[in-house]
Amino acid sequence: MKTKLLYHTNSYMYECTAKVVAVDGDDIALDATIFYPGGGGQMADHGVISWENQIYQATVLAMSKRESIVWHTLDCPPPHVGTEIVGTIDWDFRYQMMRTHTALHILGGIIWKEFGVQVTGGQMHPDRARMDFAMENLNKQRIEYIEDKVNEAIEADYPIRVYTLPREKALAIPDLVRTKINLLPANMEEVRIVEIVGLDLQADGGTHVNHTKEVGGIRIIKTENKGRINKRLEIELNDH
Ligand SMILES: [Zn+2]
Repeated sequence: MKTKLLYHTNSYMYECTAKVVAVDGDDIALDATIFYPGGGGQMADHGVISWENQIYQATVLAMSKRESIVWHTLDCPPPHVGTEIVGTIDWDFRYQMMRTHTALHILGGIIWKEFGVQVTGGQMHPDRARMDFAMENLNKQRIEYIEDKVNEAIEADYPIRVYTLPREKALAIPDLVRTKINLLPANMEEVRIVEIVGLDLQADGGTHVNHTKEVGGIRIIKTENKGRINKRLEIELNDH
């Protein structure tokens, strides 16, 4: 049993039909879902699941991914196995998340390109995010320079491609090493790649926009020293 991750092939889908394949208390597993369950620094989606022509509607309170199955925790007794449901995500939340997530890729790509330093961590919220870098010097001038470069890249409207590669092929791409691709589970035979063509390449399971211009623009709102060679940058979407 496996949940088809519709958000992996089309992150712009905000509604889908699916079938309940398992029930565990108030949790249901579906054969397919558009709900991102969380992980990799991206928050889980919010939304509703309805069935029997919307006679019943439940709010999705929480999500979890156990092995290849995505579980949705509902706020009421769930439908039986075999029921066809309609899932609808909170699109405003998700789209903000896609834009913020993409902004982090641009930021990581620029810092790698300009300074050759690696990302050491990150966390996203719908309208803002933070990222840590193995960087020694981060002065005001440098921060302004990074912000300008990120906004230039957004304006340049790079296309973003999403595809999968066999594990060995992915491991052979030098650019992927910096994103710690070697930490991927050993049983993962295919690696999902998110590429901002000409700027950034990562092994990644999250949701992103299709073109960098959709991000709109960002501001660096905070910097923090997290150790001698570890710096934190916090960004916010301009139209927040
Ligand atoms: Zn990503």
